[in-house]
Amino acid sequence: MNLILMGLPGAGKGTQAERITIKYSLPHISTGDMFRQAIKDGTALGKQAKAFMDKGDLVPDEVTIGIVRERLVKEDCKSGFLLDGFPRTVQQAEALDTIMAERGGKIDAVLYIDVDPSKLMKRLTGRRICSKCGATYHLSFNPPKQTGICDKCGGELKQRKDDSEATVHERLQVNTKQQQPLIAFYRDKRVLKTINGDQPIDQVFQNVSEILEAFPGQSVKNDRQA
Ligand SMILES: [Zn+2]
Repeated sequence: MNLILMGLPGAGKGTQAERITIKYSLPHISTGDMFRQAIKDGTALGKQAKAFMDKGDLVPDEVTIGIVRERLVKEDCKSGFLLDGFPRTVQQAEALDTIMAERGGKIDAVLYIDVDPSKLMKRLTGRRICSKCGATYHLSFNPPKQTGICDKCGGELKQRKDDSEATVHERLQVNTKQQQPLIAFYRDKRVLKTINGDQPIDQVFQNVSEILEAFPGQSVKNDRQA
């Protein structure tokens, strides 16, 4: 199964990616990991990407796409993969279709973990970190016993700038705007599978599993519980 995982920040993609890749024995291919590996391996494309990143520039599409191509033809992707963080644009999605046609196969499903942005605001702005020991809390899901104080060391709990309301709001807006055309693209191709992400983690994963196991010939390759 060749899968793409999509969702706004805070939708729980990371957790679901981990469970999917364990249960179905698929390599988890995140853009960040792919770049780091290409740079570490010193491939021609990795060197190009590094040059742009060192200058603080965006890596151009042709380099990114080249790195994705190099990764997807590797042995461990033969019986499928879970792509995470790519594609980000319709142009990249079209390039991915070309890569898939070259290597044989196609994208079987795009799993979109759907959570209302107002709920994501609450998830993402509720995080607090101990300024002394670095322990993390969440006002709704994992609150400290005493407001503003670390249970472990008594240190003061602070909100990171990245988690402030204004920053999170901006990030969600940018991501929503970026994802909408991609969602439409995959809906048109009839591979988009929308999963309600506003449920407990186990229930979200249950829904994902039902979708994946409906594919012909798909069986659970690894029974180990995630
Ligand atoms: Zn602490």
